[in-house]
Amino acid sequence: MVAEIIAIGTELLMGQIANTNAQYISGRLPDIGVYAYYHTVVGDNRERMIACIKNALSRADIIITTGGLGPTQDDITREAVSEILEKPLVSDARCLADIEAFFKRIGREMTSNNIKQAMFPEGAVIVKNPNGTAPGCIIEHRDKTIIMLPGPPNEMKPMFDNFIMPYLAKKGDLKLKSVYIRTFGIGESALEDAIEDLVSKQKNPTIATYASVGQVTVRITARYSEEEKADDILKPVTDEIMKRLGDKIYSEENKELYEVVCELLLKKKTTVSLAESCTGGMISACLTDYPGISEVYLGGVNAYSNEMKMNLLGVSEKTLDRYGAVSEACAVEMAKGIQNRTNSDIALSVTGIAGPGGGTKDKPVGLVYVSLVTKCDVWVKRLNLWGDRSRIRANTTLHALDMIRRYLSGLEF
Ligand code: ATP
Ligand code: MG
Repeated sequence: MVAEIIAIGTELLMGQIANTNAQYISGRLPDIGVYAYYHTVVGDNRERMIACIKNALSRADIIITTGGLGPTQDDITREAVSEILEKPLVSDARCLADIEAFFKRIGREMTSNNIKQAMFPEGAVIVKNPNGTAPGCIIEHRDKTIIMLPGPPNEMKPMFDNFIMPYLAKKGDLKLKSVYIRTFGIGESALEDAIEDLVSKQKNPTIATYASVGQVTVRITARYSEEEKADDILKPVTDEIMKRLGDKIYSEENKELYEVVCELLLKKKTTVSLAESCTGGMISACLTDYPGISEVYLGGVNAYSNEMKMNLLGVSEKTLDRYGAVSEACAVEMAKGIQNRTNSDIALSVTGIAGPGGGTKDKPVGLVYVSLVTKCDVWVKRLNLWGDRSRIRANTTLHALDMIRRYLSGLEF
């Protein structure tokens, strides 16, 4: 099968960015027996885009576009494809709900032009975008396959690897099986360093890494023809990667950190309570997302003001005066306070400065204390996080969850 990759965006033509999307996709296609004969780049211009896609349809079986799926006026890829295939753009309800949920999650207002991002040519199969708002799609039209993906590489790559590769592999009768190893607390470059020799020498399985806030996922994919061979191909590489990344790994089954923590809490029948300041209930929201968690999660206090920390958690005025609310001492008193009031097996607290204001030289934005107490032990961890407010809060939540995971797994903090 022959593919043509069309990268869409005037900034590519102007030399402002390099066409790494085509490079990435081309690098992956041979693994599944698909060959790219042409890379084309076209600006955000309707006539030229249509000419370019028509040309590709005349000489390739599979057309993959990247870019131009955003909400703005110059994002016109879906309109161009709709016109060429003579299939009207229709709105997908599930997709619109996903976009709404995405905005809710990142705490931003959804604008009316985002509605456009849920519109695709009739009959298109929608490809979800977990890292952004623009979903992609696959359209089967006569004997051609047209695939549209968003431009930002961090969005495009996981969509391509997780949906498009298996889809195209199936067409070519090649099978793929992937293992996902998820890590917390090791940066993407440190992780890549740790497994670089494996990545560079591997042809089958292939190894790729994806980063999101605080977490890096390693994907190991085997190409195989007989079912039972897949695990033989995957196992040696997976084992080696697991050995190298050790306790930074929280899941080998592509689970979320909060799921792993909830499973552990339930398995060990360990009750937990929370005292949250800068996360304002985010940790509690994670735990309560898990069905059945009421067996072990007793509840939490969202104590933002000093008064609430004193009145509801029993933090002493002296501690607040002497060390401030963002301090080791306050974090410990918050955790002990909630534990005393709930009698939980473990209690966890967080207090920190999420920014953008409120930082000082001694206590900069991103300074966070997380404390975990049991009936006989006390731990407290000082974090220096970076990024904007939402990143700091999201990362604090993950650190807190990871601290519970480490405690329950008998690991050091
Ligand atoms: P958005 O919703 O972000 O607007 P989009 O699908 O409309 O996504 P574009 O607007 O075309 O995509 O591109 C958005 C960004 O993605 C670009 O500014 C650039 O950083 C990156 N990008 C786009 N195309 C490519 C490419 N071919 N190679 C590498 N990066 C790209
Ligand atoms: Mg755009």
